[in-house]
Amino acid sequence: MKTIDDYNFKGQKALVRVDFNVPLDDKFNITDDTRIRAAIPTLKKILGDGGSLIIMSHFGRPKNLPEVKFSLKHCVPLLSQLLDRPVLFAKDCIGAATKTMANNLKPGEVLLLENVRFHAEETKGSENFAKELASLGDVYVSDAFGAAHRAHASTTVVAKFFPGKKMFGYLMAHELESINKLLNQNKKPFTAILGGAKVSGKIAIISNLMNKVDNLIIGGGMAYTFIQAMGGKVGSSLVEEERLDTAMEVIKEAKVKGVNLYIPVDTIIADAFSNDANKRNCDIKNIPDGWLGLDIGPETEKQYAKVIESSSTILWNGPMGVFEMESFEHGTKAIAEAVVRATKKGAYSLIGGGDSVAAINKYKMTDQVSCVSTGGGAMLEGLEGQVLPGVAAVEEDVEKIAH
Ligand code: AMP
Repeated sequence: MKTIDDYNFKGQKALVRVDFNVPLDDKFNITDDTRIRAAIPTLKKILGDGGSLIIMSHFGRPKNLPEVKFSLKHCVPLLSQLLDRPVLFAKDCIGAATKTMANNLKPGEVLLLENVRFHAEETKGSENFAKELASLGDVYVSDAFGAAHRAHASTTVVAKFFPGKKMFGYLMAHELESINKLLNQNKKPFTAILGGAKVSGKIAIISNLMNKVDNLIIGGGMAYTFIQAMGGKVGSSLVEEERLDTAMEVIKEAKVKGVNLYIPVDTIIADAFSNDANKRNCDIKNIPDGWLGLDIGPETEKQYAKVIESSSTILWNGPMGVFEMESFEHGTKAIAEAVVRATKKGAYSLIGGGDSVAAINKYKMTDQVSCVSTGGGAMLEGLEGQVLPGVAAVEEDVEKIAH
């Protein structure tokens, strides 16, 4: 894969699509700056070459009209600090005033555009809107992995206006390499750990992984659908009645394909969905009426940790329980610790999907695994084997750039 390393940006205005969709508190302070920091190496490389930056991003889900809480101006101070220079801000991502600002940019200067989603044309993938964005820069750099699964104007359509002059930034390249490493170059044994709330959200990824993994570990809310499908009693635990057949099919398919499928044997049950509820350990097939399973139990933790620690490739997506509540985070934490131990022994580990990333951040283990993906939906679609539109739009040309 060719990246910005194959290009010299001297004297060029780079139109860079990043993902600055960071969370804000009610005073508009950034509460987690991971996504902004993740884009900095790409931005610095372009500036270091003697190029200038026109940065565009979406921010939240505005209803196609400007709203203060979705303004990218809140990112200016931090961006300016991280790039160690002033950052100009364009109040609209298109229009005459913005065009003038872009035209006047000198090498080393930085212009951040207002939220592209303040225009309905962005999510519609409008060609005219994309053309206006494209008119601002000489070269297009795609570094918004978190938005690469969207065929929007600034992530995908805009690329067609840069024949021979479009490429991936470092973040995008790194994320695509980790998906490729997992799907196509994995060392065995390969273990996928899937948790989170529902079977329905994970079924496509389960199907694709079934052809690749040696071990498939199930945890979180979706485990109870499997248990009920197998005839167990799950009390008031989360169950998707309409997915009972799906769960049985997964069990059958694993058998046919020789995949070791791990389903929890014990669970921490509670008498209410609350951190202060009464709780105890329980055989997962015999949960009393009125009680619900909110975490995996100690026996399951032990079993899972053993499998994880003897793996060479690990994918983890989705928490093992309601880890947001301290009373039910033990299982998720134990799995995170096992992934870290396996990584120390030489395994390649990729953590992806919003909540497992939040968990690994919470336990301050981000630097102790191989890769923490910045894009939940994009990573899932990539692992499901789908072509990401934002990737395809740039890849068309990537080979041409190299020559
Ligand atoms: P997902 O977005 O599908 O990965 O699901 C993540 C969410 O699943 C988290 O907010 C967890 O609190 C929730 N979750 C995990 N285990 C359970 C469970 N046993 N019952 C209900 N929700 C759960």
